[in-house]
Amino acid sequence: MTNATRCLIAGNWKMNGILQESLDFVKELQANPAPEHVEVALMPPFTLLHSLADSFSEKDVRLGAQSMYCEVSGAFTGSISPMMLRDAGCHYVILGHSERRDIMHEGNTLIRKKLDVAWSHGLEPILCIGEHLEERESGRTNEVLKEQLSVLADVNTGVSLTVAYEPVWAIGTGKTASPEQVKETHAFVHEELSRLGHDCRVLYGGSVNPNNAAELLACDGVDGALVGGASLKADSFMKIIEAAAETA
Ligand code: PEP
Repeated sequence: MTNATRCLIAGNWKMNGILQESLDFVKELQANPAPEHVEVALMPPFTLLHSLADSFSEKDVRLGAQSMYCEVSGAFTGSISPMMLRDAGCHYVILGHSERRDIMHEGNTLIRKKLDVAWSHGLEPILCIGEHLEERESGRTNEVLKEQLSVLADVNTGVSLTVAYEPVWAIGTGKTASPEQVKETHAFVHEELSRLGHDCRVLYGGSVNPNNAAELLACDGVDGALVGGASLKADSFMKIIEAAAETA
């Protein structure tokens, strides 16, 4: 851990989860509460936010959304606003996830608008950054991350913010960055954040699972994990929380 805040284990369910499954998940998680020094958050699909908010207290599990639009209300069919997310009990919102960047073509201008509207509505963004395989292989990782972090230029230093470093080639592929790559890249991300005036948690994301969580979470500069596939089953998610409890 690089600062005084708690280690965060956040589960991104992506486009998975229906009501009954989520209620079973809640029961299992509630039977095994995380220790005080580990913060747990879940990002279910929008349709499950209200029901999960009714099931958990914010003290036990914080809720987040996987995305949102950059306007508060109006004629934006199919979109969800920061105000609606607050109303549904969200603390966090994931912004800049590589699936949104690559599939929905979201770029820095839109991400910055979303960051500003998230902050003005009391949401804490989890800003995802990460390089593609060809960018890593051609030695451009730091250049890409610097460009993605440039959305934080001229942002007030006091804002609530979490960053997630997620190498795109490690997301949903079963490949993870090596501990050396993680340490080196997290050191660069913390350094760049500090140059921009921010001292915040930097999570690692990319095929984190119960077998590799302890090693990844123990790397210098890793302040928690953003977990996709392995957060869908309570059993594997709880094992990652246990690994965090032992290493944090
Ligand atoms: C993610 O979606 O942010 C993620 C890290 O997914 P996975 O753990 O499945 O690689």
